[in-house]
Amino acid sequence: MKSHAKAVVIGGGVVGCSVLYHLARAGWSDVMLIERSELTSGSSWHAAGGFHTLNGDPNVAKLQAYTVQLYREIEEISGQPCGLHLTGGVMLADSPERMDFLRLAHAKGRYLGMETELITPSEAKSMFPLMDERHFVGAMWDPVEGHLDPSGTTHAYAKAARKLGADIVLRNRVTELTQALDGTWKVVTEQGTVEAEHVVNCGGLWAREVGRMAGLELPLLAMEHMYLLTEPMPEVEAFNRETGREMIGVIDFKGEIYTRQERNGILLGTYEKAAKPWSPRQTPWDFGHELLEPDIDRIAPSLEVGFRHFPALENAGIKQVINGPFTFAPDGNPLVGPVQGLTNYWVACAVMAGFSQGGGVGLALANWMVEGDPGFDVWGMDVARFGEWASLRYTNAKVRENYSRRFSIRFPNEELPAARPAQTTPLYDIMVRDNNAVMGDSWGLETPLWFAPKGTEPNDIVSFHRSNDFAPVGQEVRAVRESVGITEIANFAKYEISGTGARAFLDHLMTNRLPKPGRIVLTPMLNEFGKLIGDFTIASRGPKDGADRFMVWGSSAAQIYHMRWFEKHLPRDGTVDIHRFDQTLLGLSLAGPHSRAVLEKCVDVDISKDSKDAFRFMDFREMAVAGAPCMVNRLTYTGDLGYEIWMPPAYQRLVYTALKEAGAEFGIVDFGMRALLSMRLEKNFPTWFRELRPIYGPFEGAMERFVKLDKGDFIGREAAKREEREGPRLRRVSFIVDAEDADVMGDEPIWAKVGDQDFGSVEPPHGYGAPRFDAKGAETTIAGSGIVDGEWRVVGWVTSGGYAHSVEKSMAQGYLPTALSKDESAGLFEIEILGRRRPARVNVEPPFDPEGHRMRS
Ligand SMILES: Cc1cc2nc3c(=O)[nH]c(=O)nc-3n(C[C@H](O)[C@H](O)[C@H](O)COP(=O)(O)OP(=O)(O)OC[C@H]3O[C@@H](n4cnc5c(N)ncnc54)[C@H](O)[C@@H]3O)c2cc1C
Repeated sequence: MKSHAKAVVIGGGVVGCSVLYHLARAGWSDVMLIERSELTSGSSWHAAGGFHTLNGDPNVAKLQAYTVQLYREIEEISGQPCGLHLTGGVMLADSPERMDFLRLAHAKGRYLGMETELITPSEAKSMFPLMDERHFVGAMWDPVEGHLDPSGTTHAYAKAARKLGADIVLRNRVTELTQALDGTWKVVTEQGTVEAEHVVNCGGLWAREVGRMAGLELPLLAMEHMYLLTEPMPEVEAFNRETGREMIGVIDFKGEIYTRQERNGILLGTYEKAAKPWSPRQTPWDFGHELLEPDIDRIAPSLEVGFRHFPALENAGIKQVINGPFTFAPDGNPLVGPVQGLTNYWVACAVMAGFSQGGGVGLALANWMVEGDPGFDVWGMDVARFGEWASLRYTNAKVRENYSRRFSIRFPNEELPAARPAQTTPLYDIMVRDNNAVMGDSWGLETPLWFAPKGTEPNDIVSFHRSNDFAPVGQEVRAVRESVGITEIANFAKYEISGTGARAFLDHLMTNRLPKPGRIVLTPMLNEFGKLIGDFTIASRGPKDGADRFMVWGSSAAQIYHMRWFEKHLPRDGTVDIHRFDQTLLGLSLAGPHSRAVLEKCVDVDISKDSKDAFRFMDFREMAVAGAPCMVNRLTYTGDLGYEIWMPPAYQRLVYTALKEAGAEFGIVDFGMRALLSMRLEKNFPTWFRELRPIYGPFEGAMERFVKLDKGDFIGREAAKREEREGPRLRRVSFIVDAEDADVMGDEPIWAKVGDQDFGSVEPPHGYGAPRFDAKGAETTIAGSGIVDGEWRVVGWVTSGGYAHSVEKSMAQGYLPTALSKDESAGLFEIEILGRRRPARVNVEPPFDPEGHRMRS
């Protein structure tokens, strides 16, 4: 065994072999994979081998599409067949809600260029005669589905990697990882120690243990999973004989069942409600090629439904039941990327669909390691999406919930209950018991979403349509717009960045000029490719002891992601300190035309707008509110006159109570996150991770006001200059939609009546089809714009939307080709909501207070 390698990949399952192949393909031939036993000694060998491209996250769908396309490539290079069967498959809907779900998936597919089709139950039956169509209301056909040979595929990756110069060492367990002061990893194995610049944890069932070797507790858990194989079935043999085709894959959501043909019979797997974790704390090292004891009772409820829906199965003999473990992260997506706080420790684990996702995961990680960037938007599987709250217990509860809901509908207004409440603020009891709040989970923190009328149950009625929150949220919004309201904003990310080097550090990272002491700026942050990787509010606290101090607020979900970026660029000379507050600094937002009058009653300083040291829009002050030491920003996300007030947790109750008392004479209301998001819509404000993501440039995102190309150098400046010079291809726009009882949710296609006019290349950056996944990524060629209906064409996609209550309009934001982005003509656009195309009109100026008088008042 070699004693040095540029990178050591730990684990020879399908994911480790894919990572190794992609590293070698990217030109790193000095890479080594170390496997404890033989290749596929974890979950890979007993997989059912199914693959598909559909995924709730379009970016993950793109990676799945890439994975499927890759199989021909690795077969060719390795000479090892993957045993591909591209059969296509149907998803069966048993209820109108499930049909809405399929309509949504189909609509998303339109702009991704997917060729899915909505079909009737009898059309589905003609494709899959084993079903009893009376149990279903409709179905969706997807041609890019199938199955393969899991072991052959893993070996194909491995052989292809070897051909490109990679090393594979078998029967050699990694027992320890230590890092020297210069960052070199010592990978201690049964056969000796290897020194490596990078280590990659592809430990699969043992990824937790390989994480613990570096002091990490990775949020993943293995679950037992069963599928059964029938004896040969005459119905299957007859179908094959008569059509000359193999049977297609089927997902029956009601039965939580998936099926496909295996030899002359059927393979049937379940995601049963009675989900069972395997080895919840520690995976035994001596587990290998054995299977777990089948437990038919556990899957009996699913089988009963299956026998009803597919009667021929009831008479089929069961040849074998496979029960094997495989791993999941709390939300079911993989954990990929560099781990914040560690240098050159990478993970590619919790890949629950290794044969749909393994190729994309390998590509993303190899791009990241070789080029410093995954090359496209991998947020949905970035290991940084979980914080320290994702403990072993949290993971156990969430993974069980996720597994048992794998085939359940997740409604857009649905909050899932497992592992909650975890973190709460001191206002939790007041919100829940006194104010009847419906709470949501915001990055592990309980946050008020809306307030149910007294005497009613504080619960969402889950739906794709407007629901029981519609009227109360409307009241909250109107109360803020007409008088004053208060909400918790503890869920924002907050940092203090200080030190003699703080100004230079932030100036190099951010696109806007930094504020003077006592002032605030809004600023995007870009990566080297000029793509948006952050959107912050920055206030200067002024210098102390000769050092600058800045308060920085951003998206809560992105705080580990942003810390990782900050740390990567931190000067090593100790001149910059970064403190992430998390829940040690809490916030309240007070907004509406009477908010100044309310705050005035709680402070002992002059905050009027006309005094000598007026407290103006975008000012920052430190002041006592109700006697509590607070930092106050004169701005809010409502776009109204208002304040964000930040305090240590011990004071939050005091400040909240004082503001409520002071606001009583104005009829102050509590408002929740849903009202806040509704108010931002009517101001055309974007949100992070919806409108603003690492696939868009700042000009595409209509953020140019905050990009100062002449301020001096900053990361991404050259690329941003190019974007400005060449003009953005796409543009973020706002729409008013002629909706009825359902608003957009995000990812709907935008149609335009444009005939065959050419708008240049306007495909979604997270496209589908034949993406050009080279190491620099970003560019894709394809897709949705090819979808035509007479003079109508899919020209863009929705990022988010909802109902803007004070202007009483259904609104959406999304991306269009720049040439169309200012055309406010009626009759030009339609947005597809739940399968129906609704008229929509571009709305360049925000419908609420377009001049911004209110927030400046
Ligand atoms: C019953 C069942 C059905 C499934 N069906 C499908 C399906 O239809 N489609 C699909 O896409 N997926 C399916 N899966 C899931 C699929 O198997 C996993 O997504 C995939 O195997 C994950 O691969 P991996 O490489 O991450 O992990 P693993 O396959 O677990 O590989 C990890 C490897 O790392 C090695 N290792 C760990 N620690 C060390 C160490 N310290 N030193 C050296 N080596 C180490 C292990 O020996 C092992 O070989 C199924 C799984 C099961 C159990």
